Amino acid sequence: MAGNDETKDWVTKDRDYLWHAMSPYNEQVPPMVVTGGQGSWITDSTGKRYLDGMSGLWCVNVGYGREELAAAAYEQLKALAYYPLTQSHRPAIQLAEKLNEWLEGEYVIFFSNSGSDANETAFKIARQYHQQNGEPSRYKFISRYRAYHGSSMGALAATGQAQRKYMYEPLGGGFLHVRPPDSYRRPEGMSAEAFSLFCAREIEEKIVWEGKETIAGVIVEPAITGGGILVPHPSYLPEVQRICVKHNVLLIIDEVICGFGRSGEKFGHMNFGIKPDIVTMAKGLTSGYLPLSATAVRKDIYEQFKGAGAYDHFRHINTFGGNPAACALALKNLEIMEREGLVERSRALGQRLEEQTAELLQHPFTGDLRSFGFMLGIELVADKQTKEPLPLAAVGKIIAGCKAKGLLIGKNGDTVAGFNNVLTIAPPLSSTDDDVDFLLAALKQTMEEVK
Ligand code: PLP
Repeated sequence: MAGNDETKDWVTKDRDYLWHAMSPYNEQVPPMVVTGGQGSWITDSTGKRYLDGMSGLWCVNVGYGREELAAAAYEQLKALAYYPLTQSHRPAIQLAEKLNEWLEGEYVIFFSNSGSDANETAFKIARQYHQQNGEPSRYKFISRYRAYHGSSMGALAATGQAQRKYMYEPLGGGFLHVRPPDSYRRPEGMSAEAFSLFCAREIEEKIVWEGKETIAGVIVEPAITGGGILVPHPSYLPEVQRICVKHNVLLIIDEVICGFGRSGEKFGHMNFGIKPDIVTMAKGLTSGYLPLSATAVRKDIYEQFKGAGAYDHFRHINTFGGNPAACALALKNLEIMEREGLVERSRALGQRLEEQTAELLQHPFTGDLRSFGFMLGIELVADKQTKEPLPLAAVGKIIAGCKAKGLLIGKNGDTVAGFNNVLTIAPPLSSTDDDVDFLLAALKQTMEEVK
């Protein structure tokens, strides 16, 4: 079988055997079977090429087709394919050291497999830390509505998106939510700074109302990404940190998307001059080439886990976390980012994207444009006065229009709460100038067509 016949065959088999993530079954629209990737482009089984404006799931930071990464994994698999981190191996030690350099702080690193894992690990460390630090009643976590922190029961409990949760509740207990610093939807007449401080102080109110001796941690992304690219005013995170320090609450920064250059700094929190207690990371750590995540914990917190008692150490393990090949690949990935200056490139490309999409604010559906490093959110509204979200079908038309032109973009999604109206764009940080030209042309042309 050749050409389309072969495609049909793949699609039929896909329908028979494969269960897709976050996607409704749709007999009419065949799944895109992706067969290859190079740079910022992927190819599907019909031979059509697309610029991947979402870096897969916000993760392929160095782009597709890097032979160096494959070689690093291959060499390590030959030398030592596996050993658990109950003991140690060199790639994990080297990567932990390298992450300390990137984090510009004093951290110990616990490796896992996914962003969800990294956050679960952070929650368990925070609870045990308070137990062993003489405050066993601290078990609750505060996060924000609209944020996503993962799919497992605890990480999903921390998530503030109703659509992803309501079929699976009750989830892990002790997770509380507050208002996100969504400046676009702030009360009329309130400055962006005043609103950001208002949102931060809602965290403090929650701490006080709940009883501060019950709060273990606050978890936030530097900017809410998948929930609609909500970039806080510069005053927000320093205020959140001040509140956490005041009440002895651990500040967990989820860098699963914002980390590894995406924000135009090594880590998103570095844009705001704060020092987290715990940093969670995944995705860009390996640019998605192999599963790996990490939870970085301030060294003095780790001190609490060094006691000789039977229960003093961290009673947590995952079989594959810190796999040697994944660590070796991550080290090579960071080497590529440094060699090619991809953090700086992210900043430059982000600036260009911001400048050259500014005209879209004139479009009748564009309520707001928000960027953070090399990511852009376009909030679509049916009415600029009321800010009523553009209906999902119309948002879908724009995404489909871009796809027809060879550009893949994403959107946020909380159908239950009605927030599924932000287009998201986050291409590989290694994108060429021509790639960005292509992206801008396809996006603007599509937006013209849907006016
Ligand atoms: N945290 C954030 C901010 C994310 O965007 C995601 C996934 O998209 C996660 C955590 C969970 O990561 P994973 O899908 O690797 O479990």
